[in-house]
Amino acid sequence: MMKKRFLSIVLLISLCLSGCFQTKNISQMEKINSKQMANITSPFTTTYEVFLYSFYDSDGDGIGDINGLIEKLPYIEDLGFTSVWMMPIHPSPTYHKYDVKDYYEIDPQYGTIDDFKNLIAKCNEDNINVIIDLVLNHTSIEHPWFQEAKAYLESLEDWQTPSVDECKYIDYYHFSKQLQTGYARLGNCPYFYEARFWEGMPDLNLDNPSVKEEIRSIMEYWLNLGVAGFRLDAVTSYYTGNSEGNVAFLRWLTETGKAIKEDCYFVGEAWTNQNEIAKLYESGIDSLFDFPFGNVDGIIHETTLKNIGVDAYVEKQIAEEDYYSSKNPNYINAPFYTNHDMARSAGYYAGDSDAKVKISGALNLLMSGNVFIYYGEEIGMKGAGKDENKRAPMQWSNEENCLGPKDMDSFEMKYPPLDEQEKDSYSIYNYYKQAIHLRNAFPSIAHGKTNIIKELSNQDCVVYQKTYGDETVYIIINLKDEINSIDLSSLEIKELSGVLQTTEDKIEWKNKQLSIPSYGIAILEK
Ligand code: CA
Repeated sequence: MMKKRFLSIVLLISLCLSGCFQTKNISQMEKINSKQMANITSPFTTTYEVFLYSFYDSDGDGIGDINGLIEKLPYIEDLGFTSVWMMPIHPSPTYHKYDVKDYYEIDPQYGTIDDFKNLIAKCNEDNINVIIDLVLNHTSIEHPWFQEAKAYLESLEDWQTPSVDECKYIDYYHFSKQLQTGYARLGNCPYFYEARFWEGMPDLNLDNPSVKEEIRSIMEYWLNLGVAGFRLDAVTSYYTGNSEGNVAFLRWLTETGKAIKEDCYFVGEAWTNQNEIAKLYESGIDSLFDFPFGNVDGIIHETTLKNIGVDAYVEKQIAEEDYYSSKNPNYINAPFYTNHDMARSAGYYAGDSDAKVKISGALNLLMSGNVFIYYGEEIGMKGAGKDENKRAPMQWSNEENCLGPKDMDSFEMKYPPLDEQEKDSYSIYNYYKQAIHLRNAFPSIAHGKTNIIKELSNQDCVVYQKTYGDETVYIIINLKDEINSIDLSSLEIKELSGVLQTTEDKIEWKNKQLSIPSYGIAILEK
């Protein structure tokens, strides 16, 4: 099997380099690769973040839906993703649906529970894990729990003291007669309620055992339907400003989920610094998004801009691996470059800079853990400014499919839509696809421990290795503006096994010398 894999990779490379990209043959071959690999390693290697609303509309109302996602599963599988994270799917008054009205239903804009069951069945056939967004910090103001509490408090006379025996839901949230930081006024009565994000999103009282039982039962329901795990929204806001409280709640959540389904996977959104993320790993949670590497001010973009050296990009990963694993030895890092709250990365670079768009995608995809890619990044979509712009319709072709969020500005994309990029072997799309397939073909890329070869590395070009089981690969990234010749005779190398290049200039491997063009990446096996 191993031999077959090397052969396929070499074949894939030569087909790509020859410029005659035979989509059909290659995609079938690659499919075999990613399936073989999926059985060997953790099922969470590369995850596609989908905003259903803007992804693919199956019924002509202009809003993406579950059946649209089902139609596009072959696209996702062909790219090599092992999992899909669906942003919130529950009924909600907002287009983004981060304020939930009913944790047991599907928003009618997206479809029905039967559509969802159908999606899970199709994903099972394709070995794709489905992770759903679980928003527990707050509900919608329209959730019946809040509505009942509100109606009860409004019904009281001034002299009456609220009683949980009369309405248990007053303990599901934080109500107070005192106006406090982060509180909003409750209708026409003397109470305020905690709503840190917005008055439409009341914060849940996560200390209440009844609320915890509701959460346990919600997780059980979706796990029984076949979801593989949950993406946890806003975990630093569970107990605002109280790390210990957040750690304790995450520990309860993780243990409760894994008691229902042993391999239930959790990835938390803690938009904060490395120290606080490390602290949260003490809870035993599987994954936390690697915010220090993502976004316009993160380590990936700083590396592409050459504000820090590419050797530092690797050294920072090593330091982070040591730091996080000291808190949770079983942690799975969750690197990402952008998400639905961030400006899209193609817009980070002025002018014709597709080499930078590509290489930064690779700097994300070469990291250990479960790498997340936000839909549309693989074709270099644009979108910045207000949130709606960051969630624009997927550009399948020049023909309109989804309408996108109502308040989205109208703006031009920088790169062509998917159907054009598919035909161009040097498109951003085909670069991402090759990067994901390399990641799948060599488990040490996603699961390996990182070591830098210091004597061969500098700020423009790095040589490092990743080891997982009996596989070791050397990765060479050249950010020099010119071709680089590196003498690798000090390393034990079997062969050049994979390349990622942004131009037609070839990477060459001869007599232990590697010739690597600007913005080239080479993978060599020990
Ligand atoms: Ca629709």
